[in-house]
Amino acid sequence: MERKVIITGDRPTGKLHLGHYFGSIVNRVKMQKDYETYILIADVQALTDNFNNPEKVRNNVKELALDYLASGIDPKYSHIYIQSMIPEVAELTVYFSNLVTVARLYRNPTTKFEVSQKENIFGSSGESITYGFLGYPVSQAADIVALDGDVVPVGDDQLPHIEQTREIVRKFNNVYGETLKEPDAVLSPNPRIKGLDGNDKMSKSLGNAIYLADTEEEITKKVMSAVTDPKKIKKDDPADPNVCMVYYYHKLIGNKNLDNVCTECKKGARGCVGCKKELINEMVNFLKPIQERRKYYEDHPEEVEQILKDGTEAARNKAKEVMNRVRKNMKLDYFE
Ligand code: SF4
Repeated sequence: MERKVIITGDRPTGKLHLGHYFGSIVNRVKMQKDYETYILIADVQALTDNFNNPEKVRNNVKELALDYLASGIDPKYSHIYIQSMIPEVAELTVYFSNLVTVARLYRNPTTKFEVSQKENIFGSSGESITYGFLGYPVSQAADIVALDGDVVPVGDDQLPHIEQTREIVRKFNNVYGETLKEPDAVLSPNPRIKGLDGNDKMSKSLGNAIYLADTEEEITKKVMSAVTDPKKIKKDDPADPNVCMVYYYHKLIGNKNLDNVCTECKKGARGCVGCKKELINEMVNFLKPIQERRKYYEDHPEEVEQILKDGTEAARNKAKEVMNRVRKNMKLDYFE
């Protein structure tokens, strides 16, 4: 039976952290055997905010590929590919740009929110909003549709982008005849992972992230400053583990001693320093196989390059098929 096509990916702007891992990567690793999986390294989209820093984007393409492979993305099942190496996506973005009004782009709730944030920083003259930024949902639509994507796993903030993709596809098929697939969004089971500081989201910009490649020293420093139950002052004060970020992380990484952590915390039979040390130990062990795989691939850069080349070739072949249909139905197939 033909497997459904899943399209997912990240912008190469930094190393992956536990928020990415539990928020999306684990799910991708689980799904990769059941779907025809394409994992996009979105370097063109990363340039939207980093157009004046191409070196940063280039270096992070490699880091992201290493993090994927370290996390269990298996090139036997998943095609990891580089967005800029698929010119068909750029071409489809141009055709799609005729099917979306500027007003509709501004109405996209995620874009609206990001525009308001930029306006808070730069003022409301629109000077900070580039054509590329506003058109981001259009290029994202092309990423998905150019590979005949059936399923796109997303966090809730990305749902408006997928809805916009579906609208573009419907409009395209309406104007040029049935050509393109309308993808479905699937909400990631765990889209938002809290930071150790208690913030609702772990993120690089908030400085509350534990990276998959962090050393024991770095993990220790971060965990020791994690937010616990503020009502617990003395070691033997009873506390509420459900308001404690240390407990949250014990649970997230699957500490087998979790029931004890909970009971002892509630009874005041465990101190926060000891509890944090236990978490550090658990976390180091949890990250060990990931870091060992990363080290293997760091020592074999030629393998990583081949994986990226093969993944990109597979994605490009798929995009070529789709674009043949697109050009034919748009009457743009002038020569063989
Ligand atoms: Fe959190 Fe552990 Fe302290 Fe309880 S004992 S508040 S779970 S760090």
